[in-house]
Amino acid sequence: MKDVLYIVIPCYNEEEVLMETTKRLKEKLTNLISDKKISPKSKVMYINDGSKDKTWEMIEKIHKEEKNFTGICLSRNRGHQNALVAGLLTAKKYADVVISMDADLQDDINAIDEMLEKYYEGNDIIYGVRSARKKDTFFKKVTAEGFYKFMSWMGVDVVFNHADYRLTSKRVLDEFENYKEVNLFLRGIFPLIGYSSDIVYYERSERFAGESKYPLKKMLNFAFDGITSFSVKPIRFIATSGFILSFFSFVYLLYIIISKFLGGSTVSGWSSTVALICLFGSIQIFCIGVIGEYISKIYLETKARPRFALSKNLEEKNDKTSH
Ligand code: UDP
Ligand code: MG
Repeated sequence: MKDVLYIVIPCYNEEEVLMETTKRLKEKLTNLISDKKISPKSKVMYINDGSKDKTWEMIEKIHKEEKNFTGICLSRNRGHQNALVAGLLTAKKYADVVISMDADLQDDINAIDEMLEKYYEGNDIIYGVRSARKKDTFFKKVTAEGFYKFMSWMGVDVVFNHADYRLTSKRVLDEFENYKEVNLFLRGIFPLIGYSSDIVYYERSERFAGESKYPLKKMLNFAFDGITSFSVKPIRFIATSGFILSFFSFVYLLYIIISKFLGGSTVSGWSSTVALICLFGSIQIFCIGVIGEYISKIYLETKARPRFALSKNLEEKNDKTSH
């Protein structure tokens, strides 16, 4: 018996694309089921993220007409990442393996076959990675790729050019449930969970219809969230720059004092005042940085992230770790 696959899709005002997405995914599911790659109980689960248009009515209608389609509805708009979590954690109750993707058909659904193949080979997470961004505007390409580079420079473990098109096994989602943080940046969390993973490349196409629900402002917020949820480097930067500045100010102060004693030609009063301002200013920055270090420790503790996840345990015969 093959595994039950759930495809979870967050939808916010997606009435223009939902019919086409359903048509194409129905065909895909039918093929996968008849090829015996997934169980006939497999489904597509739409998550209505507080849409203001007819999205939910359409999801209800699709559910009535198609046996392999279902849906959940959030009480209000909570944003893409939260909608995705709602979908992943709900689908986990019924599925052995879950794939998340967008509603607008930008993610190539033909990559699903390869994802499943790699899953049956024993991988728990398969990241969908964009092989090229030919269809993206120059601006989107530069900002998006710059974002991934900046993130890894900041010490956040992210998969380059991977968004939220990914396959996860049930045991990964069980572990994921232990991450209780409210500021969500999913693509940073899954690499943290671990287990064997692989990558599937696909070409990202244009949005099938409608407009992007991710305007620049939301994108910047998202990037800021990603960095501050995973990295304490910005705080360390304050402490380090304060330390370096106070070192230079101190040397400068010494220089002024020595040249004063050696009878150098300083305008009396000015240099020493400036040097003292610099010195105390930079000492204060350094002290703020030190306080920041403690705050960052408190921050990491409050997240209470799990410290490990077991992959195998030889004491347990019927290890739940094998699929
Ligand atoms: N989305 C959502 N809630 C929101 C914004 C977006 O559920 O508040 C969904 C949206 O319906 C889509 C996915 O998130 O399925 C990605 O959004 P979009 O395609 O607009 O982003 P882009 O591809 O332009 O980055
Ligand atoms: Mg999109």
